[in-house]
Amino acid sequence: MTQNPELRTHQKPIPYGRQYITEDDIQAVVETLQSDYLTQGPKVAQFEEAFAKYVGAKYAVACANGTAALHLCTLALGVGEQSRVITTPITFVASANCVRYCGGTVEFCDIDPATALLDVEKVRQLVESKPKGYYSGIIPVDFAGNPVNLEAFRQLADEHGLWLIEDAAHSPGGSFIDSQGEKQRCGNGRYADLSIFSFHPVKHIATGEGGMVTTNDEALYQKLLLYRTHGITRDPELLEENHGGWYMEMQELGYNYRIPDMLCALGLSQLQRAEAGLARRRGIAKVYDRAFSSVVGIQTLKTTPAAMHEEETGHAYHLYVIRVEDRKGLYDYLREHKILAQVHYIPAHTMPYYRGLGYREGDFPAAEHYYEECLSLPMYPSLTQEEQKFVIEKVIEFVQR
Ligand SMILES: *Cc1c(COP(=O)(O)O)cnc(C)c1O
Repeated sequence: MTQNPELRTHQKPIPYGRQYITEDDIQAVVETLQSDYLTQGPKVAQFEEAFAKYVGAKYAVACANGTAALHLCTLALGVGEQSRVITTPITFVASANCVRYCGGTVEFCDIDPATALLDVEKVRQLVESKPKGYYSGIIPVDFAGNPVNLEAFRQLADEHGLWLIEDAAHSPGGSFIDSQGEKQRCGNGRYADLSIFSFHPVKHIATGEGGMVTTNDEALYQKLLLYRTHGITRDPELLEENHGGWYMEMQELGYNYRIPDMLCALGLSQLQRAEAGLARRRGIAKVYDRAFSSVVGIQTLKTTPAAMHEEETGHAYHLYVIRVEDRKGLYDYLREHKILAQVHYIPAHTMPYYRGLGYREGDFPAAEHYYEECLSLPMYPSLTQEEQKFVIEKVIEFVQR
């Protein structure tokens, strides 16, 4: 059988994202397996401390996954059936679902077509169209790793008494420049009340499953700790009574959203390479940028202007998204060549569940139009130059057919 020489050298499928595990990572997990604690041990606090330092926040709470992190946030903020929370349709559904877990109403709002980020001006119009107190909070998402301008969201939130959860699942290590010219790292707690991260294998730091909440607010921090472990506390200062050394109280209806020590050991080990991984992602993005900039028929997303600091970028590049007219054609063509590009995201409001809550196609034209054209190309630190070259060749070949 004859074989296409290109395919022969690229037998291994190239996914859009994948984890990068080293011998050190494996060793860290093995050591924890041989230690006294598989869960609720010292690795959890070590990972939290190191992660808080990495993003520049006061507090960090590690948990089972990014979705649990979001749920812990809505619990800590007291979201309930009266709450109306604004978020973007161009996100993983968990950004919206965390409101539903608490019985609240999700209010989607459209994106800025240039960046695919939640459009702060459209959010302002929405908020100002209703009396004060109508909305409870906003969940902007650093989509693809491009940080939202949280300062602008904070200002709007303060004017209307809203809270702010930053979904930073795509942007650990990312940053934007605020109006004072200061670099603000995603999740540093300067503008958002709470920020969340995910350690799913396609994300920057992989633990299999895992998540983190960061904040500078001590009261919220205490609530996150409580809700992570069944609403149970043993802290003598928080107890209503105290019957002795064994005594604990379940003060709220919490969950078991804990993360095991093995995974925190893996996270700690991965965190040591986070900056290197980020630099590699930015390098890959530059190569794509250069390759596509002059190709008619390929558009890329604009980086938040505030994130641009001369040559430096604040973009964390979880995804590298291009927009093309025949997206399905390109997706299928790349699959034929074992390039597993992916679509991020099907607008959340068009999911059957959210349609069941009254949303309709046509509600958010920018998001829906974006969805028609978007495709995420392979983007992960271990992507080789040769693989990237192959991806670029195939993309351009298809678009110029
Ligand atoms: C991955 C992701 C989450 C959820 O994280 P899990 O760890 O998979 O639960 C939340 N929000 C966004 C934007 C994500 O990409």
